[in-house]
Amino acid sequence: MARYTGPSCKLCRREGVKLYLKGERCLSSKCALNTRVKSEGKASLVTAPGQHGAAKKKLTEYGKQLREKQKAKRYYGVLEKQFKSYYTKADNQEGVAGENLLRLLERRLDNVVFRMGLAASHKEARQLVLHGHFTMNGHKANIPSILVKVGDVVAVKETESTKIKSLVEAMGETTAPKWLEVDTSKGVAKVVAMPERDDIDFEINEQLIIELYSK
Ligand code: SF4
Repeated sequence: MARYTGPSCKLCRREGVKLYLKGERCLSSKCALNTRVKSEGKASLVTAPGQHGAAKKKLTEYGKQLREKQKAKRYYGVLEKQFKSYYTKADNQEGVAGENLLRLLERRLDNVVFRMGLAASHKEARQLVLHGHFTMNGHKANIPSILVKVGDVVAVKETESTKIKSLVEAMGETTAPKWLEVDTSKGVAKVVAMPERDDIDFEINEQLIIELYSK
């Protein structure tokens, strides 16, 4: 499947916010947004990439909606076609469409691995899933877009590999959202509830995304 393979930091600069696409680096002083803020002195001077990135532009309503959609897509590592299918699904469900959309994105298997604290970014979580390091309800699960439901158990398949072992050990330092019951000693997470809007700490205005698609 096609993936974005360009520079990750460029995406954050485009959206003007940290999308946490590079794991540890995002929390360090090496983060492109931090270094720019430091060198320029003001957060407002973080510029978008490209020749005209520094030009001050007033976003139209459509522009704001588009940026919000791109932000969500990039944060969760989902491409346009699949993102649109999540919107269609969310819109057909009962309740608030925007919240349904975020809930669907949160329920992706790669996001669960990220929330468990086993990966420093969604990209890394996706890689771990693709490489077959996890099981779901005792069965092999190597598709990042699988949606978990209440009662599902996601577990690390092989703790004998040094890399996975160190990741499981590091899990003890992470805080999982309340919809996941995590056993940090075994690298196992049980889905105990559906994710709620309050569980998602990523700053996003989902209503703008819904307005964009419902035109
Ligand atoms: Fe780069 Fe991560 Fe900083 Fe984004 S948050 S600019 S990906 S280091």
